[in-house]
Parts: sequence; C-alpha cells; structure tokens
Amino acid sequence: MENHVCPHCRTEVPQGANVCTGCQAEIEYGTPNAAFIAVFLAAALLGGWIGTNVNSTVGWIAFAIILVGGLIGCFKLFTNRVSFKRIYKTR
Ligand SMILES: [Zn+2]
Repeated sequence: MENHVCPHCRTEVPQGANVCTGCQAEIEYGTPNAAFIAVFLAAALLGGWIGTNVNSTVGWIAFAIILVGGLIGCFKLFTNRVSFKRIYKTR
C-alpha cells in the first residue's frame, strides 16, 4: 500500500483513509465535485445555446457528448488525485 504525506502536518496517512491521523484533515480522492459541476454547466450552457440557435436535437446531442466527454476527461485527469482539506485549525 502506498502512503500519502499530509501537507498540513507531515503525517503519513495510509491510502484509503478518509481523515488524517495527525491533524484530522479530510482526505478526498479522485475528481472534485466542482469539476463535475463545471462539466455539467458547460454541457448545459453549450447544449442549450446550440438547441436555441441551431436545432434542439443537435443541442441535446451536443449536451450528451460534452457531458460524457467531460466526465471521462475528469476521471482521467483526477484519477490519482489526493486532496487534504483541513477544517480544524488546531495545529
Ligand atoms: Zn495532517
């Protein structure tokens, strides 16, 4: 198992842990929710724009393509991401 080092307190945390044992920072793996929201918004805006200005069928197709492509891109981009979020400022 590969360990991660917490950037806040330098504690080694085992892969898969949800909380840092040193400073209680929350550990998040994979794609951040903000990226999913950004992909969805981009797909909705572009799909909506095309649907209004070109053709509603083309708009829905564009929406689906951007959504699926964006999600696949997110998973590839963030697959090895580990993020430490410290919420308590005790140390
Ligand atoms: Zn820590």
